[in-house]
Amino acid sequence: MANSAGLAPEMREMFIQTMKQVFDRDLPESKLLELDAADECPVDFIKTLLSPEVGLHLVFLPEEAGGLGGGAMDIARVSEEMAKIDLGVATAFLAISLGTDPIIVGGTPEQKKFWLSRIASEGLIVAYGVTEPAAGSNVAAIETRADRILDDDGNITHYKINGTKQFISNGAIAQLYTILAKTPEGPSFFCVETGTEGLQAGKHEDKHGIRASDTAGVVLEDVVVPVENLIGGIEGVGLKQANAVFGYTRLMVGAFGLGAGQAAIDKALAYAKERIQFGSALVEKEGYMAKLITRNWLKLEACRAYSEEVAARIDNGEDGLQVEGAVAKYWSTEIGNSTADDAIQALGGYGYTREYMIEKIRRDVRITTIYEGTSEILQSVIGMNRWKETVRSKGEFYSSMADDMVELESGCDSVGAGIAAAALRDLNSIIQFCHANKSIRRQPIMFRLADMMTQCELASAFCKKAVAKIESDTHYAPMSRCFARNTLADVYAGAAECCAGYIAEDDSVKKFLIGLESADPMLANTDQLNDIQLVSTWLREKD
Ligand SMILES: Cc1cc2nc3c(=O)[nH]c(=O)nc-3n(C[C@H](O)[C@H](O)[C@H](O)COP(=O)(O)OP(=O)(O)OC[C@H]3O[C@@H](n4cnc5c(N)ncnc54)[C@H](O)[C@@H]3O)c2cc1C
Repeated sequence: MANSAGLAPEMREMFIQTMKQVFDRDLPESKLLELDAADECPVDFIKTLLSPEVGLHLVFLPEEAGGLGGGAMDIARVSEEMAKIDLGVATAFLAISLGTDPIIVGGTPEQKKFWLSRIASEGLIVAYGVTEPAAGSNVAAIETRADRILDDDGNITHYKINGTKQFISNGAIAQLYTILAKTPEGPSFFCVETGTEGLQAGKHEDKHGIRASDTAGVVLEDVVVPVENLIGGIEGVGLKQANAVFGYTRLMVGAFGLGAGQAAIDKALAYAKERIQFGSALVEKEGYMAKLITRNWLKLEACRAYSEEVAARIDNGEDGLQVEGAVAKYWSTEIGNSTADDAIQALGGYGYTREYMIEKIRRDVRITTIYEGTSEILQSVIGMNRWKETVRSKGEFYSSMADDMVELESGCDSVGAGIAAAALRDLNSIIQFCHANKSIRRQPIMFRLADMMTQCELASAFCKKAVAKIESDTHYAPMSRCFARNTLADVYAGAAECCAGYIAEDDSVKKFLIGLESADPMLANTDQLNDIQLVSTWLREKD
């Protein structure tokens, strides 16, 4: 395995601190609320982040191009911290990285040198132009065409691009676009600079949330670019290039969900400490804490543990972690959403007003389950790939994960790894049961299995992190135990749905379900409320 990529942790923290200070100075909360109300993207602020004073974009660029060569962990941490402050600005800023990715992943050495050095030194605002009115989740359906222009000897000298892009972040403010267009050999990315004749911004979108980010269509009418702007120098590799970056771009958007959810729950917890009802602070009410604060907190921690594990694997040189990126994004953004929703509830009527910021966070975080792969597309990706892996490995994929959990549990005080192992073993049996019964291709089953797979994999990562923190952070073990039990309970609910949902009445199915480890209600519930109370107490007392 290669050495871990990325910045030294102190340097990463320095960048994050600088970023926070610049936000505090230029865009305090009152200003963020104004931008949201005015539906305005703070272009000058984005330029400040790209300026030599801050240079935050350098984290995302390779060292050879004048960047700092940040890794997946750096990108995830910066994304989470920026999303905690404002998801609209984070979207605008991180869209620059997304737009740059096709060049980083697929550019020729000359293209990397030329474009990446310019992005680094000039601080160009970049946009990623893939989506079209009729091609959203199904990227392969794009209609934008790039026709070859030949010289007298039949050599390609230029391409002429025609088409319309939809919902492009930074669509009206970018200086450089990476545009996916159909060439004779298939979809290909092109670099197109602002000012190129025939390129213009389309309709500005009046959005539900992330109103501080500019989202617009991009219209290309007979846009002529030199052949040198075909990224990678060969036609037809655009979808491969887009897919190659999913491991960490999805991690990045997952970090958005995580950051927004954390910001909402931090505000809700602070409020609950102050707000007195029925003679005591809300934070003292056991049910209020369990339902609205603690359960969300520990789910966010589970997402964080998983995302950190995947980021570390990417930084250690592992390739092909697209499914892991999908798992991280799917659950972090869904949990970010449900947490922000509960945070509104936690503030009662005040949560519903604009003044308290949570209402804005709730609207902002809503986008994260839609862009960079909708939740349903991710469920398909997760379900399909893990099913194939289970069949291919004859069940070894999840059973070895379960064995790791058994080993973990035997070496330490309980972090819930034994329960996670039971959930993983049951999951493995359920996948194989659905496979044998040929029901697995039915989409509701695939989606439900994807939920169970996601939670089981998160539970495994959470248990590992809890072991690593067993001495320093004692609240981690009860959190990971709670999450493991919730996972086991959900595996059983999912088993019933998947195995019996399409079958009228069948004793063999009943026998299968009763035989699962998760069928024992004691395993998923014993001590659960005590552990939730332990975490609630820690939250109540923490600064
Ligand atoms: C604010 C914002 C910023 C964006 N920024 C960018 C950007 O910078 N660059 C860019 O290229 N794009 C961008 N997008 C586009 C975004 O990636 C797409 O909106 C997204 O991929 C979904 O495509 P769609 O909107 O066409 O929805 P559709 O693909 O039409 O999906 C509609 C619904 O159907 C579901 N669905 C679709 N296919 C299936 C299936 N096979 N089975 C089951 N369910 C299915 C989806 O999950 C969804 O719930 C942005 C979008 C927004 C709103």
